[in-house]
This record gives sequence, C-alpha cells and structure tokens, in this order.
Amino acid sequence: MRLAIRDARRLRELLQLPPAESLQVTQAQQQFATFVPLEFLSRIRPGDPRDPLLLQVLPVSAEAEARPGFLADPVGDSAARVSTGLLQKYAGRALMIATGVCGVHCRYCFRRDFDYSPSSEGDAGKQFQAALDYLRRNDSIDEVILSGGDPLTLSDGRLDKIITALEAIPHVRRLRIHSRMPVVIPQRVTDELVARWRASPLAVWMVIHCNHAQEIDAAVGEAIERMVDQGIPVLNQAVLLAGINDDADTLAQLCRELVNRRVQPYYLHQLDRVAGAAHFEVPLQRGRELIAELRQRLPGYAVPTFVSEIAGETSKRPN
Ligand code: SF4
Repeated sequence: MRLAIRDARRLRELLQLPPAESLQVTQAQQQFATFVPLEFLSRIRPGDPRDPLLLQVLPVSAEAEARPGFLADPVGDSAARVSTGLLQKYAGRALMIATGVCGVHCRYCFRRDFDYSPSSEGDAGKQFQAALDYLRRNDSIDEVILSGGDPLTLSDGRLDKIITALEAIPHVRRLRIHSRMPVVIPQRVTDELVARWRASPLAVWMVIHCNHAQEIDAAVGEAIERMVDQGIPVLNQAVLLAGINDDADTLAQLCRELVNRRVQPYYLHQLDRVAGAAHFEVPLQRGRELIAELRQRLPGYAVPTFVSEIAGETSKRPN
C-alpha cells in the first residue's frame, strides 16, 4: 500500500495515456484521492483509455458535475449509526466500520464521502469498546459484518483483537468480512490469516468485491483457493457499472470465472446514487434485462441477485 499510485497524472503516465488535466479532474481528486496499488495496476492494459479496471479507479471530470438525486450519503449510513463505528440497518446483523482505509479507491464507492473519523478503528480504545458494548447489549445480533473502508487493511494483530472480542460475545455466531483486498492486493490473504479464521468458533464468511473477470489473475485465484480450501465460504458482490460490466458477455464471463473458482456470485448491486458517480449509472431496466440474459446462459447458482439498497428499508430490495 505504501507503493500505491496516489496521483491521476502519474497513473496516466504509467499506463501510457495522454495527460487529461482540468480543473474538474483536480477537484475530483481533491474530493476523493486517487489510490491504486501496483498489484491492481498490473492488470490494467496500458494504452487503453476504456480499460474496465482503469475506469474504476481513474478520477475524471464527470465526477465534478452535480446531478440531482446523487447524494453524499445515498444509503442512509449516518441514520443507521447505532454506536461509534457501528451501523445497524437490518435485523440480526450489525456492521462494524473497522477502519476508513481501503486497498484501492473505487470512484463509484457509496462511502466516498463517508465521515470515518468516529469509526471504531480496529481495537482503538473507547470507540471500539462502545461498539462492543452495543453488541453485548443486543442479543438479537448473531452476525457481525466487518467492513470499512476495508478491514483487511488492518494488521493481523488488530484483526485478531477484534475477532477475539467478538468471539467472547455468546450470541454472536457469524463473522462476515467484506473486503476488496483479496482482489486488489491478493497477497494480503496469507495462510496465517486464513488459519485464524478457520480456528475461530465463529462461522467466518468472506464477501469479496470483483466487478470484471479481468480483475482475477493468478494471484487472485490463489488467494481465493487459500480461503475456499480452508472451508471459508466466499461470495462475490459486484456493482453494475456503465462502460465496465453492463453487457451480458462481460457479466457471464465474470460469473463463470467466479464459480470456476468456487466463489458464489451473491449480489449484483444497482449503483448507489452517490454524488460524483452519476456517470457510472446503468438504467434499472437494463440491469433487469442483463439478469434475464444471464439466467438463459448460466446455472441458477451462478446468477447473482440484482438488488438496490434504499435508505431506511429493512432489507436490500430485489430489482
Ligand atoms: S474498496 Fe470498497 S469501501 Fe473502499 S473505495 Fe472501493 S468500494 Fe469503497
């Protein structure tokens, strides 16, 4: 992560793309910094401005355009905050914002404007204790989702402290880890890390985030294998993104690559309408048509559920 590219101009240079500087690009980068690790960069085709991985991480002028209906907090995260660094939207589950740090900055991210300052920040003192207190008091919560940011940007030691604390709460039975690290920096998924999850009395589920088959190289395949071979169920969530994966061939190829590696395509998300990401939106009807097409081509378990997240609703909404 120390070596990651943090500047759009440098990213373009490295990928042999002409400079495209403007006030809007500068603004976009100021609002949400560029952050592309070298492991992800290596999978972007040099010289191709339409590369589907590049489009996910390159700041562009369209981000600076204000569009009605696109908000800083489109999914109601602020209203769902029940304690410092803890959100509860749905029955039985709570989501811990373990850190504000990510292994890559995805330009369409619904938390690109999220105020991480009062997050639980790993095992850090009072804030983390407040989140644990809430979980201890609420015995209807049997599943904790570690999210962020990206929880796998925390060190093994900090993750271990979080997991150990959750293991001590009798009614918590499952730990779901949402991370893009197995895809962006797959070397993070070490044997030691997976062994810690395997040894936990909690049922540990992993949800990775991959939008395009080109993101899956040999190292990603090995990271997935390390988890699945150790009995960790791995699901994938993807976001439907204009110009990146909004055609049936691309989605079918992604789903096939996933199930070939024993990963279940879990959700295909309609874009959350976050300010700065309007240019990624695909019409809902087009998404429905794509899913219908996937059903014709793939076995049922390989077809993700197409969902939207609506602020204030008590579950994701199937589209
Ligand atoms: S890794 Fe996840 S939380 Fe981080 S920027 Fe990408 S989508 Fe957002």
